[in-house]
Amino acid sequence: MLNLTGKNALVTGIANNRSIAWGIAQQLHKAGANLGITYLPDERGKMEKKVAELVEPLNPSLFVPCNVQDEDQIKSTFEAIRHQWGKLDILIHCLAFASKDDLSGDFSQTSRSGFKTALEISTYSLVQLSGAAKPLMTEGGSIVTLTYLGGVRAIPNYNVMGVAKAGLEMSVRYLAAELGPQNIRVNAISAGPIRTLASSAVGGILDMIHHVEEVAPLRRTVTQLEVGNAAAFLCSDLSSGITGQILYVDAGYEIMGM
Ligand code: NAD
Repeated sequence: MLNLTGKNALVTGIANNRSIAWGIAQQLHKAGANLGITYLPDERGKMEKKVAELVEPLNPSLFVPCNVQDEDQIKSTFEAIRHQWGKLDILIHCLAFASKDDLSGDFSQTSRSGFKTALEISTYSLVQLSGAAKPLMTEGGSIVTLTYLGGVRAIPNYNVMGVAKAGLEMSVRYLAAELGPQNIRVNAISAGPIRTLASSAVGGILDMIHHVEEVAPLRRTVTQLEVGNAAAFLCSDLSSGITGQILYVDAGYEIMGM
């Protein structure tokens, strides 16, 4: 039985009701976890209001701003966890960013700043958040991040984000190797394409979704809640022997020849 009662879970990456992180937060809540939610703050406070309203039914006991490019906000987030919860059991890393200009056209034209930003937000942030979570995971823990097939195969237009995801998947292995002796497990879910704010920036995403619907063994794409179920499994004792892995939740698309 999947039971996360008594577990404190920090979920990053909710922007709206299409976010994969929203699907994950709902399933962790359903399994009994106590939730902390972060949001990406903007100047007018619009995102704070929008995300606060969305997550209210899940009764998060922590709701904090956390732009991963801001060291102080990361520090405050984990200070709040230490102060209010004392320990952390689950970290969901479900965020990424690359400039729209770098998600279509020629990969060789990726700008230096675009490359740095994509890797900083989408890849380094996992290392940084895991490092901050480590001292708080005093009873072991589970860290789950989100990746995509474009990190292992050249998928049209995914470009710099593919490089970021390759780095993310290797970071999962290095983190799993380091944190395993503390019984902290680190895994990634490689989700099939889903329409979200982030994926809408990738050129030709709708064509990709239709292609998956035609050739994936299940003849469809996956939903945020299906990804959420897999995340809940990876955060629970049911997956206690699994670490350093990339779990494909993609209706089977990965096994097919294109
Ligand atoms: P989304 O737009 O709903 O989520 C992306 C999140 O990243 C947003 O909440 C945004 O606020 C956050 N973010 C961006 N810059 C940030 C920063 N500097 N600091 C903190 N947060 C920041 O889109 P999504 O598709 O749900 O993306 C979630 C994750 O899933 C990403 O890692 C994405 O690459 C991955 N993923 C998505 C798909 C897909 O098809 N949608 C497939 C596989 C993997």
